[in-house]
Amino acid sequence: MKKNIVDLQGKLNALLHSYRDSFVEGAVADYIPALASVEPDFAGIAVATIDGKTVGAGDYQHAFSIQSISKIFGLVMAMNRLGDSLWQRVRMEPSGQPFNSIIQLEWEKGIPRNPVINAGALLVADVLTSHYSASKLAFLGFVRKLANNEDIRVDLDVYQSEFTHGNRNAALAYLMKSFGNIEAEIPDVLSHYFTQCSIAMSCEQLAQSLLFLANKGIDPLTKQVICSPKDAHRVNAILSTSGMYDQSGEFAFSVGLPAKSGVGGGLIAIVPNYGVICTWSPPLNSFGNSVVGMKLVEGIAEELGLSIYH
Ligand code: GLN
Repeated sequence: MKKNIVDLQGKLNALLHSYRDSFVEGAVADYIPALASVEPDFAGIAVATIDGKTVGAGDYQHAFSIQSISKIFGLVMAMNRLGDSLWQRVRMEPSGQPFNSIIQLEWEKGIPRNPVINAGALLVADVLTSHYSASKLAFLGFVRKLANNEDIRVDLDVYQSEFTHGNRNAALAYLMKSFGNIEAEIPDVLSHYFTQCSIAMSCEQLAQSLLFLANKGIDPLTKQVICSPKDAHRVNAILSTSGMYDQSGEFAFSVGLPAKSGVGGGLIAIVPNYGVICTWSPPLNSFGNSVVGMKLVEGIAEELGLSIYH
């Protein structure tokens, strides 16, 4: 086992070295001004395994804005709270559209295509806002519990910046409300959503906090039940088909792991019964996915033979 970890450390170092300069192919997200000022050449990778080990390279302990990776935590909380009735308000189909598209929402009468595009995550944010007396605190508490770290914080600069430039998300939420698919007041839903997107975490913390999805819903480090095996399966299925937005097909084709990206440059990939890979490099491609992150995940998955389709 010790040799495996040494091997893994060597592989991560080598991969990071070979891909870290590819960041020049992408562009740091600038539609949220607070994200535009992040240095583009940060790069980190961490692999946490269900036997309790974490190996990392580069900036893997540096906190960054988790952005849409937070949609996973929100979805699990909403599934736990609402049960199967959640699926009457949001579907589980790929969207084939950019993550913040509004087009389908009108055609499909305010029912989002899936919970990991913005419309679906806002719907989930409404469920949490309506079903918790203090949903933002509950969310932060859930993430801190999963990461086993009480120091995880919301980056208030990012939060303010998102709120000031959140017209598209507001439009999505108001359109859903016009169809009767949002219960709470829109400013409250947006405030919850921007709070969860603005949480700052490192690759190491994210990889460890999502291990339950690689372990049938049980946190392997604390043995706590986080969700049912069925819901862990469902989340992984949604991440496989929709987690990389309109590049999910290509990612399944080339890598074959449930994954989720965020416009802060983070990327997580779940390896069932093995562990979680998390990468961070801020420059994004046109789909909103990290350029270096995708190469790193593809590289390590290939080296270790990790794919759910083998
Ligand atoms: N907060 C971002 C938004 O709502 C999240 C998008 C993302 O990470 N893909 O636009």
